[in-house]
Amino acid sequence: MSIVLDQVTKRYQGAPVVNDVSLEVAEGEFFVLLGPSGSGKSTLLRAIAGLTSVDHGRIHLHGQDVTHLSARQRGVGFVFQNYALFKHMTVGENIEFALRVRRMKAAERVKRRKELLRLVALEGMDDRLPTQLSGGQQQRVAVARALAHKPQVLLLDEPFGALDAKIREELRRTIRQVQRELKITTVLVTHDQEEAFALADRIGVMNLGRLLETGKPEELYASPATRFVATFLGAANLLLARQTAQGICFGRMPVRTQVSERAETTREHEVVAVLRPEEIELAPTRDALRTSFIANGVVEEVVFTGALERLRVRIDNDSAEEARLAAVSSDSQPANAVLEVTRTQHEQRAFPVTLQQTVAIGVRRIHVLPTPLSSYTACGPTSEAVQRLVRHPFLTELAARMKTRIAVRTEAALGQLDTDKPASEPITGVAVISSSGNVARQVEWLLRNGAGEIMVLPAHVAAPRRVLIHWADDVVRRSTLAVAASLLRHVPAEAVYLGILPSHSDESQKPIGVRSLLDARSEAQAVHGLEMRTELHFGAAGEELHRQLSEAPDQMLILGISNMQQIHEEFGALFAAPASYSMMVVYRSAKEIDQAARADHARGDHVRDEAPVKARERAAIGR
Ligand code: ADP
Ligand code: MG
Repeated sequence: MSIVLDQVTKRYQGAPVVNDVSLEVAEGEFFVLLGPSGSGKSTLLRAIAGLTSVDHGRIHLHGQDVTHLSARQRGVGFVFQNYALFKHMTVGENIEFALRVRRMKAAERVKRRKELLRLVALEGMDDRLPTQLSGGQQQRVAVARALAHKPQVLLLDEPFGALDAKIREELRRTIRQVQRELKITTVLVTHDQEEAFALADRIGVMNLGRLLETGKPEELYASPATRFVATFLGAANLLLARQTAQGICFGRMPVRTQVSERAETTREHEVVAVLRPEEIELAPTRDALRTSFIANGVVEEVVFTGALERLRVRIDNDSAEEARLAAVSSDSQPANAVLEVTRTQHEQRAFPVTLQQTVAIGVRRIHVLPTPLSSYTACGPTSEAVQRLVRHPFLTELAARMKTRIAVRTEAALGQLDTDKPASEPITGVAVISSSGNVARQVEWLLRNGAGEIMVLPAHVAAPRRVLIHWADDVVRRSTLAVAASLLRHVPAEAVYLGILPSHSDESQKPIGVRSLLDARSEAQAVHGLEMRTELHFGAAGEELHRQLSEAPDQMLILGISNMQQIHEEFGALFAAPASYSMMVVYRSAKEIDQAARADHARGDHVRDEAPVKARERAAIGR
């Protein structure tokens, strides 16, 4: 490996702007770091270069730990967005600068300079001053200068930033050629997905300081794991659907089409489906579709863009008996979804459409995101309580970031376990309750009514800066990590897994505890793409967690349980007192997990990993 980052964290004013980033870049690879402005890309690149220190984690270049070495000692080449050439020096002097500093002989310097100018296609420009060059040419000089001392790694921070489209493309080609010719390991930062596609062997997408996903451009585009990557890499329609035993349903009937998915359980549950605009087919009638019908719709907008036609089609829920589509939107009112559709010239000729025309909508391919957090349902015993909850700043922020909706549900019987009154209909998505009532009873009531995730919010709690993760037993490890990973993609907080050993445990049990931490960390990384810290604590789990959470403000707990009694007994301390922290309870029964594993097995899907610590040993942990 050429570049290895291990949980690199950089904080400014206490907030992580680069949050636990781990990454390996192979020898000779062209890696593109892609993300919106402010996501931490430049900070991470500067950390690799040694231009900024890190608060946590290690950086290796070519097998050497360089975390505490200066920029000069790391020997990387760096190109910034704003050309940053020495204005009073000629092109030749600029390029030779680093060589002079390194006391290279004059004749050798000249030879190297000529080589570099040929490489960036600026032969003969040695004596020009930067002001006599175009922006694109200045950036070529900057690249040549960065390469002068033969660095083993080239880092480029939005090098095309200030250039116009045509010059960008030219310079892009030059950089790709130079990189191929020298086979130099390269990391380029950009916020432009087209640029990332054009250059990258592999892309890493950053948001809110976290590295969300890495992969080959075509893999990330076809099968993103996260909402953010799905919508940042190209256009995507996100729709809420139901995963049933028969398949993916938008209404009552399963959609018969190619579906790529990674179902977590066999329990019927709400999922987020990604429909790319180019995978949608339009036809005059349902029977004329060659793909699987999902609904009828009305054409609201048609834009001709040359090669492609872009349309917006509003789904007509009432017209389609079996399809009730809910757009993933931040509205609390389930609006009729608007789909983005793109069509080729060929498709346009086959079926021309006009505004306000009714069309049948079919879909060629659906990708289901593996996220367990699809939408939110604010629940309370009265409509006033529900309305207060819907306006909760942290909840609205979270829903907006996840581009999902908050449904509302008033249940007079919420928390009344003795009346045996069920919910008016099953709860979908994450149930959200206020922490003011009898939390333990409300949580149990919701679990009995089919909720799998419950968020408990104190009235004035802010977005957390630190999220603690704990599960009661290994049955819920996977589900808890999946929820944690999904939530932490939308909150700029540090993630810490707490392993808790009983206070009477002796020294001999400590290695088992430590091993379980490592297992948890590697599963979070490998299966869920979540980087988290780990800590080993001693005590009674409920009390210890409550103590940790009450110690500092702005914390949240993600707690996995597999048995409803755990709310009242083992973790009673967390639900009893009026809390200052928010909680996400993840519940999966052992039976449900067992069924899912069996279904996996029947499908020949054996990847469900067996953690190396034996079950007998694990029983001692997390109690
Ligand atoms: P990007 O390159 O993805 O646009 P940056 O790495 O430049 O993002 O910045 C990430 C975040 O860190 C931003 O919110 C930015 O304001 C903050 N930041 C960057 N440098 C500093 C600094 N020296 N002091 C305080 N905050 C900073
Ligand atoms: Mg930047």
